[in-house]
Amino acid sequence: MGKIIPKISIMNIGFDLDRIFINYPPFVPARAIDYFHQDHSKKRLFYRIPKTPLSKFFRRLIHCSPMRPKIAKNIRFIQNFPYHNPHKPNLYLISSRYKTLEDITRRKLKEYNLVEPFDAIYLNIKNQQPHIFKAGMLKKLKINLFVDDNLLVLKYLKKHCPKTQLLWYNPYTKEKDEEIPTITGLEEIKHFLK
Ligand SMILES: [Mg+2]
Repeated sequence: MGKIIPKISIMNIGFDLDRIFINYPPFVPARAIDYFHQDHSKKRLFYRIPKTPLSKFFRRLIHCSPMRPKIAKNIRFIQNFPYHNPHKPNLYLISSRYKTLEDITRRKLKEYNLVEPFDAIYLNIKNQQPHIFKAGMLKKLKINLFVDDNLLVLKYLKKHCPKTQLLWYNPYTKEKDEEIPTITGLEEIKHFLK
């Protein structure tokens, strides 16, 4: 808190998908969804990856429209990304959605006009653990700035991707974090850009 974070000349900016551009189902507490997706029998961060036909069916079901409304103001923001000077940064969408959700996700991205704003879109089609997938992508793409809503994932990334400036997108609660700057709107990204 109160730390001065040096601004960086951003070349590569990455965004998570769920709860940044596509919301969780209405009327279900987000914490409950995040809790359900994790396997709490493990000591380390570990997510349940749907493997059986039934679990895949349910996972697909909860990702179908209208269970996943768009976050219109954030979609507008990325469509009109304002920081084009001096060089437009590369914009990447990096979502840990699994292979079983690939077709649903690609359809939804088209429907919500979320394909065109990005230079590339990466989904977790090899079904890696979400935080491990994201750490790998941040390194591979040399992401300078990454925005995610999941603090547990961000904490993992903080340890494993020291070259990336991480931002916690959290307009949902008043919580702040000691290590990872919180933003409550995507326009606040500008404070981290030169
Ligand atoms: Mg998310």
